[in-house]
Amino acid sequence: MNVFVTGGAGYIGSVCVEELINAGHTVTVFDNLTEGHRSAVDARAKFVHADLADRDTVFAAVKSAGAEAVIHFAANALVGESMTNPSKYFRNNVASGLNLIDAAVAAGVKKFVFSSTCATYGPPERVPMDESLPQRPINPYGESKLMFEQILKWYQQLHGLEFVAFRYFNAAGASGQFGEHHRIESHLIPNVLFVAQGKKSQVEIFGTDYPTPDGTCIRDYIHIADLSQAHILALTPGKSGFFNLGNGEGFSVKQVIATCEQVTGCKIPVVEKPRRAGDPPRLVAAATKAITELGWKPQFPKLEQIVTTAWNWHQKHPNGYAD
Ligand code: UDP
Repeated sequence: MNVFVTGGAGYIGSVCVEELINAGHTVTVFDNLTEGHRSAVDARAKFVHADLADRDTVFAAVKSAGAEAVIHFAANALVGESMTNPSKYFRNNVASGLNLIDAAVAAGVKKFVFSSTCATYGPPERVPMDESLPQRPINPYGESKLMFEQILKWYQQLHGLEFVAFRYFNAAGASGQFGEHHRIESHLIPNVLFVAQGKKSQVEIFGTDYPTPDGTCIRDYIHIADLSQAHILALTPGKSGFFNLGNGEGFSVKQVIATCEQVTGCKIPVVEKPRRAGDPPRLVAAATKAITELGWKPQFPKLEQIVTTAWNWHQKHPNGYAD
């Protein structure tokens, strides 16, 4: 298919573009490079450097790409930042996304695949979390993604634009070529690996008084190559709806640090800090729906495998991407 990928220069987008092209698809990447990196765009993809806020440019780009499907990764995705700058999240994740989906409808795109998040649920009533749980986000990031989910539902009903929305749990790991380089890194695994690399002296643990066995937050880490495969399956005509993507196993912050110590062979000094605003204590997926309805089969479900691929990439790219 001819696939138009926003955020294809970003962490998850870069790996998905690589896998789309490996699977025989033709890809146009649209990215403003505020979060992404030009050198993270697969050399086989076309690249448009522009902003989704620019409605006319978005319409022209989707049309001239001849897009049959759109995969929309581009977004701001930091829980903590969304608590201090909500406007940025509603503008970029909702208003700019609306330009894209309108452009998709105008260009006769057949499928729209959207990166949503487990943050749309808020603190769940039960774990593992399936898609039927109520969605009550506790931060503007999750709320902005939920708002776009609602837009997708209405556009499918009113414009016939088929959608798949993936509610990601915690994306981690790397492919051989592409990995995680945020200009300001707030995520747990890369920050722990920075300590192993000697780029940081210690890792901060945000909150040790959560109602979990060791007091630290529990998350479900999922390899980005497995996320990418789900996006490729989502392009199949007739597949539609909301799907969780996770491995169904939760790891606390302390367990993640221990796994990183084991993989890297380095002792990781820690410092205990207060809770980070907007963090639910425990998020673990039930991804049975993606497995049964899409035929999704995670290839890297073990945390050690995920951390090992991330560690390999960070060692090969000690300063991340050049740009
Ligand atoms: N975390 C931490 N120290 C860090 C970064 C993250 O203790 O340097 C915690 C964070 O509070 C959360 C978990 O690790 O409980 C995962 O955070 P991350 O930012 O990686 O992903 P999120 O779950 O926010 O999407």
